[in-house]
Amino acid sequence: MALPGREPVIAHVVSISVECADCGRNRWWKPDQLRRFGVTGNTPLAELSGRIVCSACRAEGLPGSTISIQAAFVDERQRVRSEARMLSDREVG
Ligand SMILES: [Zn+2]
Repeated sequence: MALPGREPVIAHVVSISVECADCGRNRWWKPDQLRRFGVTGNTPLAELSGRIVCSACRAEGLPGSTISIQAAFVDERQRVRSEARMLSDREVG
């Protein structure tokens, strides 16, 4: 999913799926809703799983940290264009 040599950050995604392995809850978050976890547009996607906890599990006194993250990117077509441009740069160089 990531651009070559470039780490995907929150600013690149339109929404994020958070699934809790402990209770099975799954929900989609908007990046704005993740601010309560200290997540900003510059937060790498790889750091999300360390920051987000399942509030339902927390309410029951469980860790709620066994979550998996999926991201929906803002514009997949833009990503494809970027890769095409990198290819042509490589041909020129
Ligand atoms: Zn949970």
